[in-house]
Amino acid sequence: MKRTRPTTGQSRWRRSSEFRLIAVKAIRRWNRLRETAPKCGARRKHDGEPCQNLPLANGRCRFHGGLTPRGDQWHKPQLPSSPEKLRRKLADRERKAKKRAARLARMTPEERKQHERWHRTHKPGSAEARAAQRIRRKQDVEARWLIEKLQKASAKSKEAPKREVGQAGLGRRKKPVSGGLRAPAEAPAVVDIFS
Ligand SMILES: [Zn+2]
Repeated sequence: MKRTRPTTGQSRWRRSSEFRLIAVKAIRRWNRLRETAPKCGARRKHDGEPCQNLPLANGRCRFHGGLTPRGDQWHKPQLPSSPEKLRRKLADRERKAKKRAARLARMTPEERKQHERWHRTHKPGSAEARAAQRIRRKQDVEARWLIEKLQKASAKSKEAPKREVGQAGLGRRKKPVSGGLRAPAEAPAVVDIFS
């Protein structure tokens, strides 16, 4: 079918002040909704602030894991039922396989070794195993944060033990210990690509 331009009737309606009023109202209503709608909230790379995109079903936007499949079969290719999509998907996979083969062929022996080591230690695993890994990574981050904090505190007390006692007194000296054992509030958030 030949593409036709909008009829004069339509364009006159679109140029009318009545139409513009409706459009402006609609966009304002949407902006209000958008402002109060739930957000993705993942840590943004460019400024570290929470992401403001609208989330998908799992609570993250499409850039922050919203499209990441879940469950035990998450790493297996999901083949679409529509023949046209299937053809595109298979062509895509073939193209990527070729690209990967070329990249592997370009690698130096050391790079190849490192690549194989990475793949040995990064198996997809079941959903359960990945959840356990996630918890372990989080605990590692917290432990690292705690150790760093304690090291900093001990370095400080070695530097100026007299001044701290003189300035802070007994009441403040106990605080760092209890603060250190508490769940670390300022600990860096674990970058979680699976949720
Ligand atoms: Zn996001």
